[in-house]
Amino acid sequence: MTSSAHGTALQIRRLELPTPFPVGPVNAYLIRESSQAVLIDCGPGTEEARHELTRLLAQEGLTPQDLSAVILTHGHVDHVGQASWLQNLGVPVLAPKHVDTWLDGKFAAYRGEFFSRLYQVQGVPVGEVDRSVGDLQALNRLMRPAEVDVTLEYGKPCPVLPQFEVVHVPGHAQHALALWNPVTGEFFAGDQLLPHISSNALIEPELDAKRGQEAKRTKSLLQYRKNLASLQELDISTVYPGHGAVFEEAHQLIQTRLAEQEQRLDHFLTRVREVGSVSAYRLAVDYFPRHKEQTSLIMSETLGYLDWLKVLGEVEEQRESGANVEVVSWIKRG
Ligand SMILES: [Zn+2]
Repeated sequence: MTSSAHGTALQIRRLELPTPFPVGPVNAYLIRESSQAVLIDCGPGTEEARHELTRLLAQEGLTPQDLSAVILTHGHVDHVGQASWLQNLGVPVLAPKHVDTWLDGKFAAYRGEFFSRLYQVQGVPVGEVDRSVGDLQALNRLMRPAEVDVTLEYGKPCPVLPQFEVVHVPGHAQHALALWNPVTGEFFAGDQLLPHISSNALIEPELDAKRGQEAKRTKSLLQYRKNLASLQELDISTVYPGHGAVFEEAHQLIQTRLAEQEQRLDHFLTRVREVGSVSAYRLAVDYFPRHKEQTSLIMSETLGYLDWLKVLGEVEEQRESGANVEVVSWIKRG
């Protein structure tokens, strides 16, 4: 794939890297322009991914040391795991603000405390809380510390690829960028827009509390929908997603995703009306019986729809004191 905005030819290669996660392989992209070779995302921190990345770069006549920069779209472990290795080889790491909180392990305990409390408050049984927080900590052990050398600013040109604008795409992750070329419409989407699966709007703690237990949670699904609507305003041609094949029909896909969400909203509304009062966890396991073990995914999804129903005036939260923490029931209104 080549494009020729700004006169010089840009070569884009998709490098598919293996992950040990249910999502399957992840994409890194190699962008070459005259003497420059920039990598977008770099796969998980496994031997297999490192080996494959090295092999695919060699096919392009490059060693990892030849890279001019690596840009991280967001901080999730399947996208940033080789940043530390590349940085040690002298490759600068570029990312939006707060992606560093995923790279140094400093916030791992904070996130653990946050999710432990959130899940208890939202009715997850204690054994499940411990197991799912343990799963999160296990993911963190795949991280090797790296630093962000250059913090990328939303709404500005990307310093190493100035024909691309850095676009803030909160939803799947809070601190997440897309790179958009307004001339050609090329769009590096990270995980905000995926062709074959709907992207999860994952709940995260706000980062301004002293301890994770005290952190407020994000309303990620609402942010995600707002962001998708704003992407409909951009002139997007080719989408380079974080997983799956490169595709063209961005605006149609966004329509489809928004409509799927509206259908799911209807389902949750019907459920709440039937039962009158229910915990988020109960709703989550009813709706996703086959994904019961994936607490973080099903709780983010379910709370996202409850947030939305609350904005619509259909539900409200009722807090009661439980054994250790207060417990929330979601009650239908009217
Ligand atoms: Zn991903």
